Amino acid sequence: MVPGIHRAARVNVNLQAIKQNVTNEMHHLARGQLLFAVVKANGYGHGAVPVAKTALAAGASGFCVALLDEGIELRAADIVAPILVLGVVPAAAAPIAAVDGISLTVPNLAWLRAAAPALSQQQLRLKIHLGIDSGMGRIGFSEDREFIAAQDFILAHDCFEVEGMFTHFASADSRDHRYFDLQVKKFKHMRQLLKVTPRWIHCDNTAASVFDKALPSDLVRFGIGIYGLNPSASPKSAEIPSSIPLKPALSLVSELTMVKTIHAGDGVGYGVTHVASHDEVIGTVPIGYADGWIRKFQGFQVKVGDFYCPIVGRVCMDQFMVQLPVVLPVGTPVELISDDPTAPNSLKHAADYVGTIHYELACLLSDRLPRVYQH
Ligand SMILES: *Cc1c(COP(=O)(O)O)cnc(C)c1O
Repeated sequence: MVPGIHRAARVNVNLQAIKQNVTNEMHHLARGQLLFAVVKANGYGHGAVPVAKTALAAGASGFCVALLDEGIELRAADIVAPILVLGVVPAAAAPIAAVDGISLTVPNLAWLRAAAPALSQQQLRLKIHLGIDSGMGRIGFSEDREFIAAQDFILAHDCFEVEGMFTHFASADSRDHRYFDLQVKKFKHMRQLLKVTPRWIHCDNTAASVFDKALPSDLVRFGIGIYGLNPSASPKSAEIPSSIPLKPALSLVSELTMVKTIHAGDGVGYGVTHVASHDEVIGTVPIGYADGWIRKFQGFQVKVGDFYCPIVGRVCMDQFMVQLPVVLPVGTPVELISDDPTAPNSLKHAADYVGTIHYELACLLSDRLPRVYQH
């Protein structure tokens, strides 16, 4: 997808905010604990490489991504720090990871068996992190017997270098500790079964760290906090307070491309879901669901000049319409998403409006929107 550079629409990313968030988390870490910046999914839509370089300068020691390709993108950008792929990479691609010095997550014993032959044949050594499924129900070891057998297999094959062991929490962002505590218990149990000695044992995402649930560990996988977003699953009004200041980095801006007055009986948009009952001023904004600005935003208020204005009619693929209080000139700035967390159009409030989480909205912003970086 080509970015629309000849269109007044862009995602602004404030790298000073990214830097500040990482610095604040660095101060919050235990002595000797490392920060791995999670930059999967193009840095949660913010741009993986600029975010990674900023995080590195602010003290990050390594990176987590979801796909091998995302790790390769960082290596291609001359990032030499450790990179861990959190998802399951096809075993056939293990040699590619080994050559690039990218660490992979081991989901089970079958994966090790599948990856070993090609690595041995090519005399490659792959850095691995043993994934532990302590209750997320996603990937990793959960049975004692298989976990022990996997370690025996690793000890018998020198193509593997155990760099880490980790688990992932399903509810670190909740006020209810019960399931979290069960996961901690399970992880501690699996840790007792270690025969190999991982360099880094880790379990914390942003929520576990900034809500101070962390148990002692070697590194924090800091994701959503980099971007200045509170990981709390609750609606904005009931957010769990973060123990470090978080400054959102992203805003989404555009301009009015057309302004007109419509009259009683005139409709707006597909399906004519809005019909004027009297004269109304309607503005057009050149962003739509193909940019990740989904149809559920109908009715949401974006900031046009100094006014919060409701989106009227259905959001189209590439455009939407707003109801303006007065005639405003074409070119008037439109702020769809504000980087002020208290603004009615913050990413969190926008997510609440469409019934999702800010993680999802940020990731949805498509490549058609250019990312513009403020240093
Ligand atoms: C995405 C992810 C993280 C980061 O989570 P945040 O909530 O963004 O901090 C950490 N660990 C794993 C395994 C993940 O998949």
